[in-house]
Amino acid sequence: MTKISKTDAQWQADLDDEQYRITRQAGTEAAFSGVYVDHDDAGSYHCICCNQTLFTSAGKFDSHCGWPSFSAQAEHGVVTHHSDQSHGMDRTEVRCQQCDAHLGHIFDDGPAPTGLRYCINSVALGFDKETS
Ligand SMILES: [Zn+2]
Repeated sequence: MTKISKTDAQWQADLDDEQYRITRQAGTEAAFSGVYVDHDDAGSYHCICCNQTLFTSAGKFDSHCGWPSFSAQAEHGVVTHHSDQSHGMDRTEVRCQQCDAHLGHIFDDGPAPTGLRYCINSVALGFDKETS
């Protein structure tokens, strides 16, 4: 897969302040503040930085954790996992494969069959409604 890389200044110019803080500086939006927390239209979710499709409504579930949650990636390999020891916690960070945007974290308490919970910031995502 191709990679997209831009300088910090370029990202800052292309994104709004909150998008930049979360995706390029590993920020987190406030719980229950995101536009996609209770969003259940059919369609797909893409990276706000590079437009790569990352998740679909089919994999979205209501985790009550305050952030949009998905049990699977849209396609294997579109997001990457990275060890994150920040804030005194041992977590696994999730990034966009194509542009390395910070998306959120992955936990292993999701629903079957994957058992995964991708806990993702709404700010890092855009939504494409299914047109059929
Ligand atoms: Zn991306």
